[in-house]
Amino acid sequence: MELSIIVPMYNEEQNVKNLLDTVKSTLKNIKYELIFVNDGSFDNTDEVVRKLCSKNKTIKYINFSKNYGKDAAVIAGMKYASGKYTAVIDADMQQHPKYLVQMYDFLNKNSDYDQAIMINKKRSNASIIKKIGGRLFYRLINGISDIHFEDDASDFRMFRNNVKEAILSISTNNKFLKGMFSWCGFKTKCFEYQVLPRTYGKSKFNIKNSFKYAFRGIINYSKRPLVILLNIGLFMSIICFLALIYLIVKSIIIGAIYKEFLFIIDVVLLVGNVNLLGIGLLGVYLANVQSEVSGHPNYIIKDTIGFKKDKED
Ligand code: UDP
Ligand code: MG
Repeated sequence: MELSIIVPMYNEEQNVKNLLDTVKSTLKNIKYELIFVNDGSFDNTDEVVRKLCSKNKTIKYINFSKNYGKDAAVIAGMKYASGKYTAVIDADMQQHPKYLVQMYDFLNKNSDYDQAIMINKKRSNASIIKKIGGRLFYRLINGISDIHFEDDASDFRMFRNNVKEAILSISTNNKFLKGMFSWCGFKTKCFEYQVLPRTYGKSKFNIKNSFKYAFRGIINYSKRPLVILLNIGLFMSIICFLALIYLIVKSIIIGAIYKEFLFIIDVVLLVGNVNLLGIGLLGVYLANVQSEVSGHPNYIIKDTIGFKKDKED
């Protein structure tokens, strides 16, 4: 098998057939398998894919027991992929399969490259808030993280088996694929591509979900927020200590501190809030550790279709 194409799907019943047809007509000269991963869809994605599987041997199917998120779906697909190259593409046709051919040709001709990724520099077809949010996220994470995140890199990519094995060797419970790919390194070629509008359905990454995703990335790939808080705590303590000395001296000299009372209340509130923020942040990191030690797998597979042997998870 030359190429394994992983397609994570969450409520994509209307897009599956369209994607299959376009892949078929675009990848004529490449021997490929399509790995559809149903990430707990509650529409008819499951039925649609099962029907297509019975007619089409290039389709393999992984069906999750519930929704575990796109990253889990991609990782499950990687575990089952048997191609010389592995690619990830969304089901909604925002990423045209013609770019798979471009990445495939490039990797075939350039054996020193391990991975090709598609970059959406203009963030076309994204809302203004998502555009600004995306830029801010990459600025922030590159500023506070020890690894470099490729600006605007999508999950639309193709890689060799060395990259696949490296990703699968990371045994974290908190899967954040963008970070895992960045952390692994490897020689990567970036291409720009044009994102198309979603054919059917709605994006699953609304502002709230995108924020949660970005926050997960920061917590997983940076300890800097804890250091920043420590510094704020230190700074506040010094200021409060100096203010206290000032107030004591002034009350001894003048004898009354009524006016400064408001100031004291303000400092107490501020320090209290910084404390709370710190405890909250610590809690998030702790929750991450808890989920690591809990030993829960990243996903549960209900059933699969088309694979030669069942893989261990
Ligand atoms: N997806 C998934 N699980 C989720 C959310 C999304 O498998 O919990 C899939 C979705 O079906 C699509 C891809 O991930 O194939 C990208 O999702 P979407 O198009 O909603 O994201 P956007 O393009 O808006 O960033
Ligand atoms: Mg999309």
